[in-house]
Amino acid sequence: MTVPPPLPTAGPQARAAALDAADPLAAYRERFVASDDVVAYLDGNSLGRPTRAAAERLARFATDEWGARLIRGWDESWYELPLTLGDRIGDVVLGAAPGQTFVGESTTVVLYKLVRAALDLPEVAGRDEIVVDAGNFPTDRYLLEGIAAERGKRLVWLDPAPHAGVAPADVAAVLGDDTALVLLSHVAYRSGYLTDAAEVTRLAHEAGALVLWDLCHSAGAVPVALDDWGVDLAAGCTYKYLNGGPGSPAFGYVRAGLVDRLRQPIQGWMGAEAPFEMGPRYTPHAGIRRFVSGTPTITSMLAMQDMLDLVDEAGIGAIRAKSVLLTGLTLDLCDELLAPLGVEVTSPRDADRRGSHVTIDHPAFQEVVAELWQQGIVPDFRRPHGIRLGLSPLSTSFDEVRLGVEAVRAALVRLAA
Ligand SMILES: *Cc1c(COP(=O)(O)O)cnc(C)c1O
Repeated sequence: MTVPPPLPTAGPQARAAALDAADPLAAYRERFVASDDVVAYLDGNSLGRPTRAAAERLARFATDEWGARLIRGWDESWYELPLTLGDRIGDVVLGAAPGQTFVGESTTVVLYKLVRAALDLPEVAGRDEIVVDAGNFPTDRYLLEGIAAERGKRLVWLDPAPHAGVAPADVAAVLGDDTALVLLSHVAYRSGYLTDAAEVTRLAHEAGALVLWDLCHSAGAVPVALDDWGVDLAAGCTYKYLNGGPGSPAFGYVRAGLVDRLRQPIQGWMGAEAPFEMGPRYTPHAGIRRFVSGTPTITSMLAMQDMLDLVDEAGIGAIRAKSVLLTGLTLDLCDELLAPLGVEVTSPRDADRRGSHVTIDHPAFQEVVAELWQQGIVPDFRRPHGIRLGLSPLSTSFDEVRLGVEAVRAALVRLAA
């Protein structure tokens, strides 16, 4: 039997309690739907909790809007929702002026539309290379493989250390006259590494290339300033830190100067110049509407509206400040309670280079996570043996972090016995 190392005397519980007591955002936790069997929810980076306001909005929608307005609802607000909601996302979490953001389909499909449109832009059409990160989320890699085959392009793979992510110098080393596009995640889905997006964008532009940022793990958790950074294109999920619910659609961003110059490949009636004229040929709408394809998924666009209100009210600066404290406490507790049991931290230690989740590794974690889920402690498991502790600042308490790390420790001790 393995004897667990002694616990440090400075109690984790007291530290978490002190941080919760001093937390200016603590009251926001009550604005989310509570669930009795969840002790600690540490997966807000995969699926954010519903806000209470969203739960009410969803119920009301069925009776008061869909039920009462019926087809009139399209004229009254639904038709414009992909763009009005896009502008709201742009304003609250992207640092984007109106007219550049739309809400579309899944992140995968929105990325496809943006990449395909970008590659046909005359400035880069003669260039053959797309820079991509081997550590990027599978869908980003898979769809670029497909587009490269479709368009005769070559993928240039960056391969940063698993604990880290793509640094500007890594990108600078592969940029050249043949680079058409750089597609990277702002926050790496596995390590949580936060890339210096402004600097990478500057470097890519210097080389004459376009940049597309995947903001899935950034939007709603870390400050983003797309207009200020001069970003060309961006896309991201709304079901992670924007709490839009399972399957809520992604947003896409196109820099104002590019909107009317890009032709997206899925030319549907809802993105045409005059959808209801139902004319013989497709002419793209002059504005950001051209990136819409078919009938928008209105019922999936409801819940995120209430989370955007909360983010707006709390302020992204305060959210980021709490996120840094949450990930900091996670790292401290992992070092104290889990490192002696052989657990390794595989996220950046520098707060400036860290998003809002912390990943830890141990060969027994698949079994550990199965046990934790039964106890209502809910992190997520990432093969081969990583646990991601996702910390959504408006809904996660410091004590949930403490409960989560202590539960991991207890499960490891039990499994070793
Ligand atoms: C979550 C995530 C996605 C998800 O794509 P969907 O098409 O919405 O399933 C894509 N890219 C990254 C980086 C992600 O973290």
